[in-house]
Amino acid sequence: VKEKLALLSQNTNNTVNSLLSDKALKLAAKVDEKIVNGETIGLLEGIPFGIKDVYMVQGTTTTASSNLLKNYKSAYTATAIQKLLDAGAIPLVKENCDSFGHGSSSENTIFGAVKNAINPELVGGGSSGGSAVNVAKDYTVFSIGGDTGGSIRQPAGYNNIYGLKPTYGRISRYGIMAYASSTDCVGPIAKSVEDIRIVLNAMSGKDVKDQTTYASAEIDADAIKTSEGIKTVGYFKNFIESDAISPEIKADFLSAIEKIKAKGIEVKTLDFFESNTLVSTYYTLAMAETASNLSRLDGTNYGNRIEAENLKETYAVTRSENFSEETKRRIVGGNQVLSQGFSDAIYLKGLALRDAIANNFEDDFKKVDIILSPVTPNRPPKIGDSLKDPHAMYLSDAYTVGFSLGQLPTLTVPQGTETGLQITAAKQNDELVLKFANFLK
Ligand code: GLN
Repeated sequence: VKEKLALLSQNTNNTVNSLLSDKALKLAAKVDEKIVNGETIGLLEGIPFGIKDVYMVQGTTTTASSNLLKNYKSAYTATAIQKLLDAGAIPLVKENCDSFGHGSSSENTIFGAVKNAINPELVGGGSSGGSAVNVAKDYTVFSIGGDTGGSIRQPAGYNNIYGLKPTYGRISRYGIMAYASSTDCVGPIAKSVEDIRIVLNAMSGKDVKDQTTYASAEIDADAIKTSEGIKTVGYFKNFIESDAISPEIKADFLSAIEKIKAKGIEVKTLDFFESNTLVSTYYTLAMAETASNLSRLDGTNYGNRIEAENLKETYAVTRSENFSEETKRRIVGGNQVLSQGFSDAIYLKGLALRDAIANNFEDDFKKVDIILSPVTPNRPPKIGDSLKDPHAMYLSDAYTVGFSLGQLPTLTVPQGTETGLQITAAKQNDELVLKFANFLK
């Protein structure tokens, strides 16, 4: 714990505010005492971890990396985090991210751009960039990210580590700052499949405070070391044949497919929606939901209030001065697609497309056990580039957002480069995803 706190205090842009040092050291001393007394300790006891700054943790501010919530004190602790605390894990730090999860590079933040762990000229990825870089650099053993459209998987890929977006509803969203509630997922970022498994088990479960949660069985360590149930793998032909994919990523992906074939697995190509359709469906729904979720941040109950002449002006000034350009773009876009005259043509069409995408997945999983994809069509961009072209940034999410709309379990495994391979299974089959990751090793 001491060592990691020292590394974290180097003031890289991975962290927000101060470290949780005092409390962490006290907790660590208690675990030391138990060890000295010969008591047995649990798997997560004494393990230092980081938390994306969108989770309520009592005794910390939860800023969502936004000026609007710069001084917001968490009123309670998120269920997922509480479960880790109950298991004895030690929180060290709240982590920098794209403000409210809006972004793919961790540059949309008041705490400075997160730098890639492999090449600091490149972005750390987003929105859970601080969390991924802290794990990659061994500043934390694991971190808890949030994934609405790729925010765990993409930074994990960019930093060459593991990141899981579990099935929607496997882990409670209670106490996470809502971005797009219908696809928001809590998940672990770590350096091994085993660590992902342990943290996933600790956080999973039904929660009366989040009615979308379901009860799930623990995933057993030995059960995911067999190859039972892994016979066929599919990939989307249009993803790999697209003009948008970089030649190196295509080559990496196809060589992973060859290795899988050599292990005796049947590989099928599948048809899927075009990237542009996936990206526009996702952003239509995500913007609509975030416009609605963020409407409460007007400086009355929440937010850095800026007083103006009257109440309406106070709302306007508070929001326009404190929200970032990217967040404002999404609020404006979201309110537009929800407004009369547009909602039938745009928002309802988005909902219908989401159903069609989910049905497509259901059919696919009758043909294959696992779907594979690169995490992104391109390598991480240079710091500064994504801010210049938001549309290009949205398109970089082309391979992650579809699985989010399908609410499927999906894991990034490192490929040795700053990309990563994405392993997806049918709904609630998170176990098969982890099993396949072990099978690939
Ligand atoms: N990059 C995507 C977006 O900006 C995904 C972000 C996320 O998963 N929080 O919406």
